[in-house]
Amino acid sequence: MTIVGLGVPAVRRPDPGADRAHPRHASGDLVDTHGRTARDLRVSLTDRCNLRCHYCMPPEGLPWMERTAQLGDDEVVRLVTVAVRDLGVREVRFTGGEPLLRKGLEDIVAATAALRTPAGDPVRTSLTTNGIGLARRAEGLARAGLRRVNVSLDTLDARRFAAITRRDRLDDVLAGARAAQEAGLAPVKVNAVLLRGTNDDEAPALLRWALREGYRLRFIEQMPLDPHGTWQRSDMITGEEILGALGAAFTLTPQPDGSRGAAPAETWAVDDGAGLSGTVGVIASVTRPFCGDCDRTRLTADGQVRTCLFSTGETDLRDRMRAGASDAELAATWRAAMWGKLPGHDIDDPGFLHPTRPMSSIGG
Ligand code: SAM
Ligand code: SF4
Repeated sequence: MTIVGLGVPAVRRPDPGADRAHPRHASGDLVDTHGRTARDLRVSLTDRCNLRCHYCMPPEGLPWMERTAQLGDDEVVRLVTVAVRDLGVREVRFTGGEPLLRKGLEDIVAATAALRTPAGDPVRTSLTTNGIGLARRAEGLARAGLRRVNVSLDTLDARRFAAITRRDRLDDVLAGARAAQEAGLAPVKVNAVLLRGTNDDEAPALLRWALREGYRLRFIEQMPLDPHGTWQRSDMITGEEILGALGAAFTLTPQPDGSRGAAPAETWAVDDGAGLSGTVGVIASVTRPFCGDCDRTRLTADGQVRTCLFSTGETDLRDRMRAGASDAELAATWRAAMWGKLPGHDIDDPGFLHPTRPMSSIGG
């Protein structure tokens, strides 16, 4: 299997659809040849992180992006502005790496929250974070205009947390999620990845905790985005296994078809028969892919458009911007990239190619 990430800078291959000069890309939304329109922009603000989750980063970290390679705050805001004003994007989620490590985060959020879509609506803003340091920053982020956060947490057991993330910081994460809720960054969504033999017995306990705290829990199937390329399908805890474990402790009722839309999570109403009820989501990206409804476009911290988490190519906006491209030219390049978005990720296909960047560098 291909070794990615470790010591290997992201390889830039042009996206197949990036036929830049074509007039059909001169105006309009981010449409592709499979009938999808991208409305949801994921912006990675850094590839660095203060945790070392086993499935995401090696203990020594990764060869980090050079500071000069990374977009500056003004450059991020300019590209987000182009996306919202000219390309039909309505929702912007900041991620990483760990986006709370980005010093200019509050300023970037404030500038994004001030944007309006062509219909005059505010942009929906959110942040995906490991929660460390969020307790101190939640209020400021809310004041800057952030609407919601997703906090990643795979276990409620401090020893397991330290084993999975290689850092003893469970209390910081719990405090961060609570502070976000209190600051009104709600509903707080909690993302959990279950790992065979590590925390795969914890699904009901995580759900009980989330329901009591008023958080929306979503389980995510582990995807082949680890830096070592060691992901094995047989090791992954499938959505079906997760639902089996939850079904033993809760009554699960699928939410009506259509409630999912472009959202990756399939949602179930849950009830433990003893007064605890709410919902749970399962993001079964591998076993039940939702590519046909995907409405995402991605921007890496070094200014590359990715049409998909699993893209093997990307389209440069940073160098074009630094070479003096106009907003209209940047928008046309972005449209052309999205035009070439492939129909799906083909993880189950024997010819599946591991992306050339690990998850922490793409932005999860
Ligand atoms: N550091 C932030 C965090 O952990 O929330 C943001 C970036 S992280 C890459 C975003 C999400 O991706 C986290 O919920 C993490 O658990 C998830 N993730 C990382 N590697 C993954 C993988 N190989 N498969 C599935 N989810 C993964
Ligand atoms: Fe860091 Fe998030 Fe990756 Fe964990 S999943 S190492 S918190 S980027």
